[in-house]
Amino acid sequence: MVSAAYIIAGLFFIMSLAGLSNQETAKKGNYFGMIGMTIALIATIFSIEHDSTSITYILVAVLIGAFIGILLARKVDMTEMPELIAALHSFVGLAAVFVGYNSFITLLSDTSFFGTMLTIHLVEIYLGIFIGAITFTGSVVAFGKLHGKIRSNPLILPFKDALNVVLLIVSLILMIFFIVEEGAQSGFIYLGVMTAIALFLGWHMVMAIGGADMPVVISFLNSLSGWAAAASGFMLSNDLLIITGALVGSSGAILSYIMCQGMNRNFFSVITGGFGNEGASGATEEMGEYKQINPEDVAEMLKQSDSVIITPGYGMAVAQAQYPIAEITKKLRDKGINVRFGIHPVAGRLPGHMNVLLAEAKVPYDIVLDMEEINDDFPETDTVLVIGANDTVNPAAIENPTGPIGGMPVLEVWKAKNVIIMKRSMSTGYAGVQNPLFFKENAYMCFGDAKETSEAILNAL
Ligand code: NDP
Repeated sequence: MVSAAYIIAGLFFIMSLAGLSNQETAKKGNYFGMIGMTIALIATIFSIEHDSTSITYILVAVLIGAFIGILLARKVDMTEMPELIAALHSFVGLAAVFVGYNSFITLLSDTSFFGTMLTIHLVEIYLGIFIGAITFTGSVVAFGKLHGKIRSNPLILPFKDALNVVLLIVSLILMIFFIVEEGAQSGFIYLGVMTAIALFLGWHMVMAIGGADMPVVISFLNSLSGWAAAASGFMLSNDLLIITGALVGSSGAILSYIMCQGMNRNFFSVITGGFGNEGASGATEEMGEYKQINPEDVAEMLKQSDSVIITPGYGMAVAQAQYPIAEITKKLRDKGINVRFGIHPVAGRLPGHMNVLLAEAKVPYDIVLDMEEINDDFPETDTVLVIGANDTVNPAAIENPTGPIGGMPVLEVWKAKNVIIMKRSMSTGYAGVQNPLFFKENAYMCFGDAKETSEAILNAL
């Protein structure tokens, strides 16, 4: 029964991932995930050896966990979602560490493991704790950086790469010593030292990664948390945890790859860090004169246009401007103007951030296009509305290839006839780089909170 339940739950998880890959089926995908997880929880709780007291403890713990989860999910803003995800990854990492130590303590009084099986079990325990500890501190630092509690600039320790390599080699040697001890109590020493090293490695790795590379770090930690869960699955001999961990681990790895492509970055150079260091230095740089425009004139310019492209970014999410934007879109389309959205793969603070917000405001899916689908159309576009986007429309990525965001593909909005930039000030975006777009001949700054400005444009329309 339990095996059958696990296979069914595993199928639901695969259907959930398949559903989530498309906006129209995403809701269904979520439901599949919930059904799969409910089956998994019920099957797991009732399959373990228990008496009625232990089941009561488990159910009470599940209820408390569910209560905290629901409370958090209701309270958290869309803009805080990446932080929440980072925090949740840290729990998975910490859980893998606890499961690892618990498995080792159990092993001390368990004589059923010997020979090759014992070696395999020891490797599972060691790797589970190692991956879990890296995931834990890495996610805590990612949370701090996304929350603005830790500076997003990379921390560059002397010989940082050599330090990481030495620590990895030491961890490997400790694993050999740990296995040679064959599950004796002295193994704790090796586990303890390795845990300290892995906690440091997680902290150091994410501290060394610069602001603009954070999207890849989030998906990389997502992947690591999956492998940590899979390692726990091996330790606990729980097939479903292995399957689920592998699904999360591999989908996170694929997502990291897609994000790297979106930013034209090599995965290993992201993980070894140090990129984006010069970021803040360009922040206050003066790049010439900029022009201002008021919402009424923006409305006039839009009315005179045949084609309009809207490129939203993090500021749209902060201001919750998607609703008036959706109404502006409708008004313009009713006038026969061709309105489309251009979405950068790392716009906002989590993959798909803009798509979720636009879907929430009921913007039709067929006018929401990916960067590569729309980038060639800017030269034939009359007006571009940049709403709270900055790094993702920064021409410095192309004009200054050695700069902090050099080489990242961007939405080439400056090629349109007119570009309106809606933000509150001249300040920089997440990567901390000044944006030469604001000073271009055809660019106009429309200052103010994106929601208030959009509402003013809507009224004028
Ligand atoms: P940016 O972070 O580059 O810029 C956002 C801009 O929005 C700011 O310059 C800010 O300017 C403006 N803004 C903030 N609040 C408001 C408001 N209420 N009204 C109007 N404007 C506002 O955004 P992008 O989306 O262009 O780029 C995303 C960045 O985040 C990239 O560097 C990416 O690498 C990074 N990132 C992406 C993740 C992802 O998965 N998508 C995850 C983590 C990081 P001002 O203060 O002047 O208003």
